[in-house]
Amino acid sequence: MTISVHGLAVSRGIAIGRAVIVASSRVDVAHYFVQAEQVEREIERLRQARNAVAEEIVKVQQSLHELGPNDAHPELTALLDVHLMLLQDEQLTSGVKHWIVERHYNAEWALTTQLEVIARQFDEMEDPYLRERKADLEQVVERMLRFMRGVASPVAGGGSRPAHDSAAEVPLVLIAHDLSPADMLQFKQSVFAGFVTDVGGKTSHTAIVARSMDIPAVVGARSASHLIKQDDWVIIDGDAGVVLVDPSPILLAEYGFKQRQGEVERERLSRLKNTPAVTLDGQKIELLANIEQPEDAAAALKAGAVGVGLFRSEFLFMGRSGKLPDEEEQYHAYRRAVEGMQGLPVTIRTVDVGADKPLDRGASRAGDDHLNPALGLRAIRWSLSEPSMFLAQLRAILRAAAHGPVNLLIPMLAHASEIRQTLALVNRAREQLDNASMAYGHVKLGAMIEVPAAALTIPLFLRHFDFLSIGTNDLIQYTLAIDRADEAVSHLYDPVHPAVLHLLAGTIAQCREKGKGVSVCGEMAGDVSLTRLLLGLGLRSFSMHPSQILAVKQQILRCDTTRLQTWAQSVLVAEDPAALMTD
Ligand code: PEP
Ligand code: MG
Repeated sequence: MTISVHGLAVSRGIAIGRAVIVASSRVDVAHYFVQAEQVEREIERLRQARNAVAEEIVKVQQSLHELGPNDAHPELTALLDVHLMLLQDEQLTSGVKHWIVERHYNAEWALTTQLEVIARQFDEMEDPYLRERKADLEQVVERMLRFMRGVASPVAGGGSRPAHDSAAEVPLVLIAHDLSPADMLQFKQSVFAGFVTDVGGKTSHTAIVARSMDIPAVVGARSASHLIKQDDWVIIDGDAGVVLVDPSPILLAEYGFKQRQGEVERERLSRLKNTPAVTLDGQKIELLANIEQPEDAAAALKAGAVGVGLFRSEFLFMGRSGKLPDEEEQYHAYRRAVEGMQGLPVTIRTVDVGADKPLDRGASRAGDDHLNPALGLRAIRWSLSEPSMFLAQLRAILRAAAHGPVNLLIPMLAHASEIRQTLALVNRAREQLDNASMAYGHVKLGAMIEVPAAALTIPLFLRHFDFLSIGTNDLIQYTLAIDRADEAVSHLYDPVHPAVLHLLAGTIAQCREKGKGVSVCGEMAGDVSLTRLLLGLGLRSFSMHPSQILAVKQQILRCDTTRLQTWAQSVLVAEDPAALMTD
């Protein structure tokens, strides 16, 4: 019977495939397909891991035995017996083999997949003693994974489907309780055709990375990872935010049709790539790209972006077990992005970790273990608390600017003192480079307007910065006092709340009055239902994921800004602006 699970639509399109349930604690395990001729070697890796762990256990048993009878030992000996038994368990062994032989998963992926299958069976057991054996099984699997980590897979790093192998042709969709933005990034080059997570808001960073991957995704689907079983057929409707589990043939046919329609639409949009983004009344609109990695520059160019409006540099810092990138590593990464954009400007935002972007899963450095991480030591606050790290980043960005046009963007400023400290550090970074006789380039300096306090003191920002960029994701979060990553309050996340529109309109108008550049780089910029409103409010520069650029451009080509201006003013003073959005 088909069941439907409702969540939040974050990334457009339809995906149809078999579910791969990944436990949040296992997302760091490599996921890739092996070629048919490598199947035997994967099974051998697994066998080696199992034998090695069994040997370890037997050794411990022997040493206990040599110590002689002791009251503490019987329990431990019994536990080790259980571990040995689980290791040889037929369901584990044959299950793992199944995933390797039939689906061509690499050994680690096959092992964690089968662990999920058996763990669920343990969860359903009535006997508490048996239920607790799940923890033992997890320990055994963890030891095997540790062994395999030490022995490199001869085929690791594949990440693609075997070219002529029907076993692996079935699309796979990833289902997880939670994925951190760094986990999500790891899946960027992966095999999955869609994503579903139980938690997360529409503009959580996990959702943002999913959107940048341009594959259908649903977040905040609450119990999806429990309701969906390993290998179930699912349909992800990324437009409606719905996941259909075990769909009937009629539903499969209907969604298959929608999927093909989506492909036709994409094909049609791709023809707009070289069309200039100019409105009917001749206003030129700047369409920029948001990127997370230097390699994303290629997608930005492919979509016809005229520059990068937001390079979220924190993705270079995340998921590195505390070993942050040094100046050289950062310089090379920024330089790759700059050169990748072939002379078009690149706006590099200084590191914005904290809140829903922890440096590491469970890390405590960037304030993410505090009660209110979104209100804690994140973004520029963290940078100013780590001046040597911040200086290294500033030097790296300035040096990259010697290779092409670069703008330097500072996140989450709110106080004049933060502005002064930041600008002093930028000058200090320049001095350090001068003293070291190192080449660097000129950068334009920009501030993000993400906190209501900043939006209400725009003249202060305009005195010190060359341009402003409005981070609507955070501006909405902080104006409406709702955590953007919390699906429980996602219904209150309202981009057209009168307070938000008021702050947006004021910021745009003041920048234009002073002749300073202003863009929106939050998710609002890539939402086609808001393009007309933003144009009407005077916005001429939009920064969004490359995958959204052509759809927004199509909208722009149909707009007349003189007419939209009057309409936008009426939206601005309306009690219920959403009601006017379809006018
Ligand atoms: C924003 O807040 O709108 C923004 C662009 O920054 P981020 O989403 O990375 O917080
Ligand atoms: Mg932000």
